[in-house]
Amino acid sequence: MKGLMMDTPLLIKDIMQHAARCHGSTEVVSVTVDNPRHRTTLAEIFRRARKLANALQAAGIRRGDRVGTVAWNDYRHLELYYAVSCMGAVLHTINPRLFPEQVSYIVNHAEDRLLFVDPLVMPLIDALRPQFGTVERVIAMCDEAHLPQAANGPVTDYESFIAAGEDQFDWPDFDEHTASSLCYTSGTTGHPKGVLFSHRSTVLHNYAALIGDSIGCTRRDTILMVVPMFHVNAWGIPYAGPSVGTRLVMPGPKMGDGATLATLITEEGCTLAAGVPTVWQALLAHARAAKIKLSPLRRVSVGGSACPLSIMTEFRERHDVEVLHAWGMTEMSPIGTLNSPPRGFEDWPREQQDALRVRQGQPVLGVQMKIVDDQGNELPLDGRTSGIVKVRGPWICGSYYRPDEPSEAHAEQGWFATGDVATLEPDGTMTITDRAKDVIKSGGEWISSIDLENTVCGHPQVMQAAVIGVRHPKWDERPLLIVVPQPGESPTREDLLGWLGGKVAKWWIPDDVVFADKLPLTATGKISKLQLRQQYAGYVLPTA
Ligand code: ADP
Repeated sequence: MKGLMMDTPLLIKDIMQHAARCHGSTEVVSVTVDNPRHRTTLAEIFRRARKLANALQAAGIRRGDRVGTVAWNDYRHLELYYAVSCMGAVLHTINPRLFPEQVSYIVNHAEDRLLFVDPLVMPLIDALRPQFGTVERVIAMCDEAHLPQAANGPVTDYESFIAAGEDQFDWPDFDEHTASSLCYTSGTTGHPKGVLFSHRSTVLHNYAALIGDSIGCTRRDTILMVVPMFHVNAWGIPYAGPSVGTRLVMPGPKMGDGATLATLITEEGCTLAAGVPTVWQALLAHARAAKIKLSPLRRVSVGGSACPLSIMTEFRERHDVEVLHAWGMTEMSPIGTLNSPPRGFEDWPREQQDALRVRQGQPVLGVQMKIVDDQGNELPLDGRTSGIVKVRGPWICGSYYRPDEPSEAHAEQGWFATGDVATLEPDGTMTITDRAKDVIKSGGEWISSIDLENTVCGHPQVMQAAVIGVRHPKWDERPLLIVVPQPGESPTREDLLGWLGGKVAKWWIPDDVVFADKLPLTATGKISKLQLRQQYAGYVLPTA
């Protein structure tokens, strides 16, 4: 027997129309090239999105066409988010920090017809322009007065582009499986791979983002959106915020700048924030040096790489801020697991609390998970056996967009192999050992670089740490620890190896320590293990 409920399509325009009606006066604050503190409202953003949709239509954009953005977080980018997807076209968000050859590859692979570009990124796009095969127009995201120089083709400014468009637009109805946005994963080997989100997946993921222990923003909150809008749709905040009327604060190009973030938090009254761990290291270092408290911040969502315990502890002890540790990836829209402390957690002994905090948490409702061995056999959920994590669910990538070759990750029908290695407890709590490609294999056994890094980051003189596997004649690979000390501190090799003694298995202790001023970051701001492995490829360990 079939249920008798209505079958209305799940479309992003419903988020927009709901937000316009219920939360239209909600403020959106942005840092942009033409204004260091631009203020507008959701109602105004949606009005301009209608003008933009008319302008896009006049420029020949039709359903299914790809419209690229190479931009930071600000209100114009939000207008593009809604206008492009809701008119039935596909918003292709491009990370300006990718290597130039990756940018031209993905623009051509996606066949972008228009590119909306932040003025600061225009030099990159202008230089690449002769290589773009399908781009018809480039629009700079600023007003006429701030139009950047470009040598390789005409550029229109955003304000002139939308000026002619009517501010009425009939948002069309269509199948909820229609593509809404496209985001390429950085891909450590081979070409970047396209993840094509749909209206349905975006709306369902939005409910997951709004769960209390997820992004969990409310009408009373102001969220500092540090996670870039080119990094998996800023983890869904551009939809979740407007859905419930959360005030949005967007740092534009200043997302890596601790001082700007601290100012935005205190002056704009941000209660929530979301971003990768390296951003918080910069913010906490600034707050420490400037002796300020990050009020009224109450919770920070951290994901994208393992969050060191030291970050969580400093947030809690110095700033009364809770860290929500979450795990996910582009292919998962991105939310997969949430580390949500259980009832009575506050009464647990500190050590037990910390042991739970560093884990990646339980699957969010809607995501199913299992771990498998190399042959694909399912492994026990005993909290000890580690295997490759596979996931399934309505916001998980079913296949890549026009892949160059069949994807190994989708080899098992109905499941996606994440490439992460982890253990699962009977209650689903996941602990990531490593990414499969980062795991260190010493004498046939696995050493978790994440565990080592986490422990080293707990040393008071350490700001950042990374552990990579280096060739070893006897053990195949042995761990090398690379450390960035806190400003003004100079810990020794012995201090650090001694600190690890008793905290991790003896055979996990790195064979050597290298000190560095900074660590290389990936395009999404995470510590780049790939670059570190290349940098230290020929490193000879004292034990070798
Ligand atoms: P990329 O970093 O490859 O550009 P993603 O942002 O999609 O692309 O990264 C997803 C990967 O980040 C995951 O597969 C996982 O290895 C890592 N990751 C994300 N969150 C966490 C976390 N909380 N702990 C450990 N690793 C994480």
